[in-house]
Parts: sequence; C-alpha cells; structure tokens
Amino acid sequence: MTPRTLFEKVWSAHEVVAETPDTPAVLYVDLHLTHEVTSPQAFSMLRSRGLSVRRLDRTFATMDHSTPTESAQIFGGKPIRLVSAAKQVAQLEANCAEFGVELLKLQDDRRGIVHIIGPELGLTQPGRTIVCGDSHTSTHGAFGALAFGIGTTEVGHVLATQCLLQRKPKTFAVHVEGAFRPGVTAKDLILAIIREVGVSGGTGHVFEYRGSTIRALSMEERMTVCNMSIEAGARAGMVAPDETTFAYLRGRPRAPQGADWDRALERWRGLVTDPGARFDREVTIDAARLQPMITYGTNPGMSIGVGDAIPARDGDPVHAKALEYMGLQPGRPLLGQPVQVVFLGSCTNGRLTDLRAAAELLKGRKVADGVHFLVVPGSQQVKREAEAEGLDRVFVEAGADWRESGCSMCLGMNGDTVAAGAYCVSTSNRNFEGRQGTGARTLLASPITAAAAAVIGFTVVISTTPIWLRDFDLYRWRDRFKRDGLTATLRLELREMLTPRVSLREPFRWPTEDGEARDPERIKELVEWEIVLSTDHVHSSLRDLPRDERWDAALPELLSDVSALLRDALDLMRELGSAEDRNDLS
Ligand code: SF4
Repeated sequence: MTPRTLFEKVWSAHEVVAETPDTPAVLYVDLHLTHEVTSPQAFSMLRSRGLSVRRLDRTFATMDHSTPTESAQIFGGKPIRLVSAAKQVAQLEANCAEFGVELLKLQDDRRGIVHIIGPELGLTQPGRTIVCGDSHTSTHGAFGALAFGIGTTEVGHVLATQCLLQRKPKTFAVHVEGAFRPGVTAKDLILAIIREVGVSGGTGHVFEYRGSTIRALSMEERMTVCNMSIEAGARAGMVAPDETTFAYLRGRPRAPQGADWDRALERWRGLVTDPGARFDREVTIDAARLQPMITYGTNPGMSIGVGDAIPARDGDPVHAKALEYMGLQPGRPLLGQPVQVVFLGSCTNGRLTDLRAAAELLKGRKVADGVHFLVVPGSQQVKREAEAEGLDRVFVEAGADWRESGCSMCLGMNGDTVAAGAYCVSTSNRNFEGRQGTGARTLLASPITAAAAAVIGFTVVISTTPIWLRDFDLYRWRDRFKRDGLTATLRLELREMLTPRVSLREPFRWPTEDGEARDPERIKELVEWEIVLSTDHVHSSLRDLPRDERWDAALPELLSDVSALLRDALDLMRELGSAEDRNDLS
C-alpha cells in the first residue's frame, strides 16, 4: 500500500464522495462546535427551509466570543452591558432550545472558549474531523484531528447534513528539531514558523508538525502551535497522536471509556505518517536558535526577536502602512517600548499552563503604574483550577484584573477593548488593525513576555538562562574595571555579558538617542529588574538540582555566593548608569 501522511489517513476515512476537477469532495464531519457569533444565520437557514439538525449527538454549543468577563454580569444578576452581545447570547440559547442542540450556558461551569473546552471535555479526539465557525479551530489538530474553521453558510450546511464540500488540501511538513533555549515557548515557535513560511505560505495546505521538538511539547503547547496554523494561511495544522495525547485524554468526560477506550487507542496508534510518505512541501526549523518573539506589525508574520530591530523594507507599502498604524519606526528595537495594556488569555494562551507561567513571573511583584493587565482564563475549568492553585491571588495581589472566561480582548466583541493608539502586549493570535479595538496597537507575544511587560511597563526579554557561571565572569570583570577603568576591551566584554541578559542587540546603546521615547532611567531599572529576576531563577535552579549530601552541604554557601554576586552586579549597573561616558558604550 502506498505510504500515507496522517492528513491523508484522516481525510480518506471521512471522504463520502471524492472530488473531481469540477466538484469538491463531500467530507463527513465528526464534531461540529458552535458559538453565538457565527451560528444565528445558520439556524435561520434551517428554520426557513424547515430542516432539523442532522446529528445532534455530533453538535455542541458554547458561549465565548461576546460573553462578558465581569463576574457580576454572569453570576451577579447584572445585565450584559453590550446590547449586541446580550442579543447574541439570548439568540444562541433560543436556537439551541428550539433545535435541541446541547449548549453550555453562561453560568455552566464547563463553559469557555470553544477551542479550550473541546479538548478539556474530551470531545476533541485523534482522527476526528472537527469544524467550527472560527478560524482557530486548527487548535484541535494538536490531537491528530483534522480541524478547521468554516464560514457561516457552511455552519448551516453542516447543521443540516453533517457534511461539508471541500477541496482536498495539499500536505506540508513542518519539521522542528532541537530543544528550546530557556525563556522560549511554543508561542515563540509558532510566531517563528509563521515568519519563516509567510502569512500565506501555507495556503491550500495542511501542516503536519513533526520532529523531536514537537514530540517533547505538552498537549497545551501543541495546541498553541496548531492554533496559529491559520495565521500562516494553512487550512489546518496537525500533530500525530502519541502517549502525551493519550495521557491527556484518558478519563475526560466525553473521551471513550472502558473497552471503548482500548479500541480507540488501537485505532489512534495508527494515526501516524507512514515511513516514506511524501509531503507536497516541507520546511525545517531549528528550535535551538529561537528566541522570545514579538510582533511589530499588523499581521502575525511581522515578528522579530524581542531584542531585534524592526526591519526596514523600503518600497513595501504594506510594511510602511503597518508601521504607520503601529506608530513604530524601522531600524529601532521594540525592546523598551512602553505599553498600556497587557492581555493574558485567548484560545492560543489561555490555558492553565499559560497562567502558571505568567504567575510564576509575577509572584511578589506589582503590575507597573499605568498598565491594565487583564487576565482571562480560557474556560471556567481553567479558572477553577487556577484558583485552586492560588494563581488568582498572585494576579490580584500584583494588581491584575482577574476575570471570568471568554474570548475577551482577543477580538473585543464583549466590550473588553484596547483604546485607540494604546499598545497592548497580547497572548492572543491576531494583530490586525482594530482587532482589539479601533486604533488599538497589538504586540503578540508569549505569556512570559506579556507578564514581564506588565510588571515593567515596557516590552522586555526574560532570560531564564541559569547565568551563575556568567556572573562569575561579571565578578572578575568588575575587579578589572576597578583596576583599569573602562577600557575599550572591557566595554566590549561588558556588552557581550549584558547582551543575553537584556537581549539588546547590536548596536548596544544606552537608549538616549531620540531624547524622549526611551527613558534611560527606566531602561536602567529594566536591567536591574532582569538581574533580580535572574537571582530568583539561579536560586531555584540550584534548589532543583538532584539532592545528595554533597549538595546539601554546599547549597547554603552557593546560594549566598550567588546573592552576593548579583548584588555586585546591581552595584555595577548603578556605577555605570552614573558614569559620564556611558553613551560611549555604543
Ligand atoms: S479566543 Fe479569539 S481566536 Fe480563539 S475562539 Fe475566541 S475569538 Fe476566536
């Protein structure tokens, strides 16, 4: 038998009628997820034609896109503030009641963003075809499902027939090899992939994410990666299911149980690309070279490493228009860009692991003055689990705004919007003009980068590299500085040492050249803060080392050495900050 890719196996198992040059294929749909925004017209269509929903057992509805996130509007009896949102919510309730569709209502403790509750409940399963009237349905591909977004008319087709007319996409292997550097996340990976492939590079294809890096990702991380496949133009993104997938699904309420589970496992284990199967296109990404990413433009492909300069693309009107909208200039780094809003949430990064990563960074710190840090769990289950771990207290004590679940500021349909001209570091998936509100300027990034920006009030890179060996270098450097003064060699060495920590790239400057956009005092604070953060990390790294008697004996001394060292580093920063010739460091 001809070797087949994962996609081809799932596609052929659901092909009711094959496509011809003149007609698309008819594809059977295993699971149809619906919500309040793209379903009203579809239900109207059923009503006007006297049709019923073809497979109620394969249709599932939740409320997420325009639902309020303020508790009082969900549990406190306060009316939904936005009239348009209230109408959509009421309409979905009425439609589901009339047609018999299972719905997670506003106060249901299983409610949440459609792409988060599907996996949580075990509705999302390997080998399934899954559709929903939302582009980021590709999220479910993390389980080896073929999952993609459909339009409102198609929602009607699937409700009525449980089938869809589709042209068969081509296949595209995205090989990712190597381990992430500390501080790099799945969000940084997918932003790097989109930049590499281009925002329309995947058009007409289904990605299969492969390689050692993908195998090492958790299900949550795989979902983050598959979620944004659509931003590279791909129809869907898939990851072959493996033990990580099965462990995630086992025991979920809608996953197969008992003997059905065993049978399902047997079937699911065959959902891999056969050796020798050919892809129409392939790309390879070296994960070890990735750095924390952030977008600077108005599509998710316009991204850079947080410390890199915004590229100049002379003669490119799209690029020029994007930068004008964003109020940014080419050739300048985004590092140190003041932000007014930080949004942690969405179906890309609103899971428990995302909240944990941000809370870890936030613990014991405060959100910077003038920054609104909105934290919106992806589902009520995520919210409950986060509260059970005390994450809500970390956020609230830091000054963040802790909400009920929903899409919220991902698209602002519920009224959670960013003001015109304001900069928002957002963990969501789209940075189009006006996506988070008219005139809003969105900088897409990971939960870690977002939380750091919330605390500093600037975009900043968090280096979690264990740096204690480098710090000993800094210690020696300080002695030479005291002895010889700031020689050219020492300047160069200092730049080398600081670069990974603050991720400022060539040319290294105390950023005073434009006089106002970059405040040297704030940048100095930023550097100091980074060192303080690194202290935390060094301490926890040392504590996490395998324990034996030797370590137990050495640990107190090591911790005190590292603390002293980092205190010296701070002193050094202060000295340099007040040195008259600090601008000569460029
Ligand atoms: S969080 Fe954003 S992308 Fe995800 S389902 Fe909601 S609106 Fe769509």
